[in-house]
Amino acid sequence: MQKRVTTTQLGQWDRTYLWHPFTQMQEWETEEPLIIERGTGVYLIDRAGRKYLDGTSSIWVNLHGHRHRILDRALRDQLNRIAHSTLLGLSNTPAILLARELIRLAPKGLRRVFYSDDGSTAVEAALKMAVQYWQQHDPAAGPKHLFLHLKLAYHGDTIGAVSVGNIEAFHSRFKPLLFPTLEADPPYCYRCPLNLRFPSCKIACLDPIEQIMRARGHELAGVIIEPLVQAAAGMITAPPGYLKRLRELCTRYNILLIADEVATGFGRTGKMFACHHEDVTPDLMAISKGITGGYMPLAATLATENIYAAFRGTFEELKTFFHGHSYTGNQLGCAVALANLAVFRKERTLVRLRPKIAVMTRLLNSMTSLRHVGDIRQQGFMAGIELVKNKQSREPYPFEMRIGHRVAQEARGRGLLLRPLGNVMVLMPPLATTVPALTRMVTLLRESIQQVTDSRSGQ
Ligand SMILES: *Cc1c(COP(=O)(O)O)cnc(C)c1O
Repeated sequence: MQKRVTTTQLGQWDRTYLWHPFTQMQEWETEEPLIIERGTGVYLIDRAGRKYLDGTSSIWVNLHGHRHRILDRALRDQLNRIAHSTLLGLSNTPAILLARELIRLAPKGLRRVFYSDDGSTAVEAALKMAVQYWQQHDPAAGPKHLFLHLKLAYHGDTIGAVSVGNIEAFHSRFKPLLFPTLEADPPYCYRCPLNLRFPSCKIACLDPIEQIMRARGHELAGVIIEPLVQAAAGMITAPPGYLKRLRELCTRYNILLIADEVATGFGRTGKMFACHHEDVTPDLMAISKGITGGYMPLAATLATENIYAAFRGTFEELKTFFHGHSYTGNQLGCAVALANLAVFRKERTLVRLRPKIAVMTRLLNSMTSLRHVGDIRQQGFMAGIELVKNKQSREPYPFEMRIGHRVAQEARGRGLLLRPLGNVMVLMPPLATTVPALTRMVTLLRESIQQVTDSRSGQ
């Protein structure tokens, strides 16, 4: 069937029938879409057989490369048994085994796994759990259903997740639908709102957060954070100690800490979870993206025993968490997620990642001299290169210039696929990327930045 359709025909049908995410379709309709046909390792291959390096891991999900033998086989084996049965009133083998594995790997103290389908739904579940937790754990405490989050936060696109997010271009239109929250400045050192410098600042950006907690802690159900890296904000990396201190503040003011590890989880930051870097156990943790190695949509919300216990009771007490989705605990997803974790062990992914992270740091450093590279931020295998109009004043490029998009277009022509975040170029390759492939990616990225920013229109 696929063979008989021409690429031109497919392109036409794409423009006729599809509505792409985060895409201005009017523009899209004027372009030939790049249609991916196959993948292998860190490469995506289009219908004409052209190979592209997958520089953003197919939007942050792929870890061990495409067409990994072990992952492919796990899916086929599971298909030979069953694709899906419900977790409502039934259980299934891969869902059980995966839950056990996840708890083994998660920060100590997280004890229960609640499945859903994607990062947004994992966040929604966490928010609802937090609200219901306080009602059942401490009904005398009065209403505790406010959330505190950082500006520029991104936790997904469903309405609850958007409520605790703050990316103007994505979120502002939906304000009338959102529940009220409290916001605080992020630890964006390059554009520090207080104009301080780490470490002498002593993470002073947490002081206003503590003030909020002191004043409103009794109303706060939770603080939600992307630990270590605010990814969609433009790879804003938090200074060391920030997460740990936030954990301490949450404990002191009796507020739940919700870690959104959707982007940072599964080795991205150099450890299995970002929370591990600072020995932090959140009360709730949302995971997705890398959970299946980029194969299937699957997510989970992990909870401590304390949270879980507040939901236990007799049927009539109505303490049940009345929440779930049609595909919760999907066998294909859980089976490939189990294989994903097996590959981590078999290939010693995290151990082998360590030297590659150092190589990436060195390669990225070679870009600091570029005239329009303002800041380079890296945490593990997540990197953001912030392009600026004026390096001295740190003046950003105006958004209409679409500088990130233009660099990405340039890179595509050279065989590297990227998806920028505004003026920030994102490099987030699969963890399995070899040093030669990594070097190639950074070289192509540097050439593309140079080409676009040094051309007259890039000034
Ligand atoms: C991508 C992302 C989400 C949303 O996940 P989806 O699978 O796109 O719904 C939530 N939080 C963070 C930190 C993310 O990066």
